[in-house]
Amino acid sequence: MESVADILEGAAALERALDLLAQGEVVAIPTETVYGLAGDATNGEAVARIFEAKGRPRFNPLIAHVASLEMAESFAIFDPLSRRLAEKFWPGPLTLVLRHREGSAIHPLVRAGLDTIAVRMPRGFGAGLIGKFGRPLAAPSANSSGRISPTSAAAVAVDLGGRIKLVVDGGATPVGLESTIVKVEDGRLHLLRPGGITGPELVGVAGTRLHRGVEAGIQAPGMMASHYAPGAAVRLGVGEVRPGEALLAFGPERAKGAEHAVAILNLSPRGDLREAASNLFAHLQALDRSGAAVIAVEPISAEGLGEAINDRLARAAAPRDNAAAAS
Ligand code: AMP
Ligand code: MG
Repeated sequence: MESVADILEGAAALERALDLLAQGEVVAIPTETVYGLAGDATNGEAVARIFEAKGRPRFNPLIAHVASLEMAESFAIFDPLSRRLAEKFWPGPLTLVLRHREGSAIHPLVRAGLDTIAVRMPRGFGAGLIGKFGRPLAAPSANSSGRISPTSAAAVAVDLGGRIKLVVDGGATPVGLESTIVKVEDGRLHLLRPGGITGPELVGVAGTRLHRGVEAGIQAPGMMASHYAPGAAVRLGVGEVRPGEALLAFGPERAKGAEHAVAILNLSPRGDLREAASNLFAHLQALDRSGAAVIAVEPISAEGLGEAINDRLARAAAPRDNAAAAS
């Protein structure tokens, strides 16, 4: 039997949400934009659960939601223009893509392996929740992949109610549109996604022009065939490891020749896809640093989260010439 999510509001919702988040569970929460599916951004399995619950076929990078500028600064580096925009529009529907502060507590799965991180300070229930939780929450919209973003608790419950434990009901979301996403590069302001804050509002505060279109669009992850491209070549679905290769393993049984691998990391010795998802980016990067020319990857089930894991590995294995090709 599938469980059905509780729908709670107010203090009872806050208490239960804090409890579930501390256990690494995901909860649907209202923000001023749309309902979000939130999990502890520092906990890889919680982040993997977000993708699992949404049935997302890909690991797109997620927005890290914060309760203060200080919290954002613990994992992101602000250039002067981004800081001005944050001071003016936060809390509110503006997401900034910033340079990630190396060694931060944010789990790599949130960034999908990028060296940037998207950050936003929401208004309303989410802000209070994050403040009390004390850690950033990763949260995409609370809909299953391919459906539209929900603007009511009822819409979330109909779609995801069988897969999550709690929907916090905060009524209809006031903005009803996703956040605007911008990125500052070399002092230029790029619009990556239009949303709740308009172009003229941004320009009014930034005092510079807003760059749109292909120029900005190419930076939207998920559009690139390989946005995480290791230095090593990647060989997928291997049954036999060749001498000199590094091995990205999965499950309890090893490919033939594993003993010759220059390095071995196992995504999940017990074959758990959630654990594998949470280890994917860190393990790929570590094997890349081993200096092997090739990373051999054992076969990984394509069920559930396995689809997104295999998608990311296929991108890592894509010929580098096509690295920028749309997918
Ligand atoms: P959602 O949370 O579903 O509204 O989607 C989040 C959006 O933020 C997606 O369009 C992502 O591509 C975008 N995004 C998240 N992180 C980054 C990043 N580091 N660089 C550029 N875009 C990002
Ligand atoms: Mg969405």
